[in-house]
Amino acid sequence: MPFDYAPAPESRAIVDIKASYGLFIGGEFTDATDGTPFKTISPSSEEVLAEVSEAGPSDVDRAVKAARRAYTGVWGRLAPAERGKYLYRIARIVQERARELAVLESLDNGKPIRESRDVDVPTAAAHFFYYAGWADKLDYAGLGPAPRPLGVAGQIIPWNFPLLMLSWKIAPALAAGNTVVLKPAETTPLTALLFAEICQQADLPPGVVNIVTGAGETGRALVEHPDVDKVAFTGSTEVGRAIARAIAGTPKKATLELGGKAANIVFDDAPIDQAVEGIVNGIFFNQGHVCCAGSRLLVQENVYDEVLDSLRRRLGTLRLGDPLDKNTDIGAINSAAQLARIRELSDVGESEGAQRWSPPCELPEHGFWFPPTLFTGAGQSSRIAQEEIFGPVLTVLTFRTPEEAVAKANNTPYGLSAGVWTEKGSRILWMAGRLRAGVVWANTFNRFDPTSPFGGYKESGFGREGGRQGLAAYLTRGGPGA
Ligand code: NAD
Repeated sequence: MPFDYAPAPESRAIVDIKASYGLFIGGEFTDATDGTPFKTISPSSEEVLAEVSEAGPSDVDRAVKAARRAYTGVWGRLAPAERGKYLYRIARIVQERARELAVLESLDNGKPIRESRDVDVPTAAAHFFYYAGWADKLDYAGLGPAPRPLGVAGQIIPWNFPLLMLSWKIAPALAAGNTVVLKPAETTPLTALLFAEICQQADLPPGVVNIVTGAGETGRALVEHPDVDKVAFTGSTEVGRAIARAIAGTPKKATLELGGKAANIVFDDAPIDQAVEGIVNGIFFNQGHVCCAGSRLLVQENVYDEVLDSLRRRLGTLRLGDPLDKNTDIGAINSAAQLARIRELSDVGESEGAQRWSPPCELPEHGFWFPPTLFTGAGQSSRIAQEEIFGPVLTVLTFRTPEEAVAKANNTPYGLSAGVWTEKGSRILWMAGRLRAGVVWANTFNRFDPTSPFGGYKESGFGREGGRQGLAAYLTRGGPGA
């Protein structure tokens, strides 16, 4: 029997969205001098939410100069424990304004409020709390005594976890004593601009955090600015490559967090019901717009029918629709361009001979939507088994032995994450040692914790964010006289 839910929408009255936003430079909102403003829309309704400034090269230059002044001035002279206090203050304000941030994130990104409220915003606050504690303990970061900050960090983030990616970037950079210029993605700038207000509320010294909005050209101007000491990028492998080329031969340091095509591996001794929940969380969380999504399911052949039957049943219960409804499991696709890419790759899947399946699912009339989708019968080398779709699409493959599971899991240009479902601890360790992935989850998936380093192998990029390792990306060894 289908189960009818009454709608339970979260009120958007808590958020005050302005008609237009400037850039956040030197502690103040200011008009852009040389870009063309653009609109940010709600992907679930296509409603225009606000007009946002585009930062051109001279605006980026102003922001970098403000960050440099703050670095050589007040922030550089502050005692480390005092830096920590600012981070604690930001963390507390993020918690206090959590509902506002969650509603704004769901409006601008399209993700279900259940996720922005329960995952994105609390995890963002947790990053600020965690790195606040490190600010006066950098001698223990693993770089010897008195490690030094790098200077001004240029940080570029994607649209899938706008506030969370901001916190992954800004919290360790500030704790280590750097100042930052951050560019949010062009489709999701609003929580970064609200975060700018939070910096004002926390009395953060002007110029320590600067936010420049815009698209790829703004990002490029930031990467190529001669006074940026460190580039921290999260986004696609293609843009990551362009950035690596742009800074090659310069003294700039870089961390690149790029795409993924993770294997979620289910052995025949796994608790199947839990594994099915993990498979669903692995690929349908955040509409599959997750770099570490478990987008390739590897099922041991003798439990294939059982797993697929349970999975299809479970997918039939997922609720797709209004991101602000607290019952919603699957929200909107972030943009028309991303929807077109998901459609295109799914069509390729069919044309390559794989079988496509989705539960009965009514899609809303306006906005960008894609139903949860499974592909079975795909070849190892097919595009849907190799390329990142970045949407709610799961490619199901099978294996017989652990060796075969490892070989198939590693058969991808990426290496960001993997999941292993089995009752045997020894098998988890055996697999974890052989999987070429930065993170291996055991009997769970998509768990994020500020204390745990995250990052990739191969085309998933280099450098680690999170944990002590995440600090090393913003520090250099202390030299004589440091
Ligand atoms: P994208 O690479 O198109 O854009 C990412 C950011 O880079 C945006 O802010 C964009 O404006 C900017 N940008 C674009 N061109 C640029 C250029 N030439 N120079 C500098 N900046 C430029 O990626 P996207 O579509 O926004 O995000 C999806 C991708 O991000 C996926 O591939 C996903 O796997 C990846 N991602 C990785 C992680 C991770 O931690 N490894 C986390 C989240 C997302």
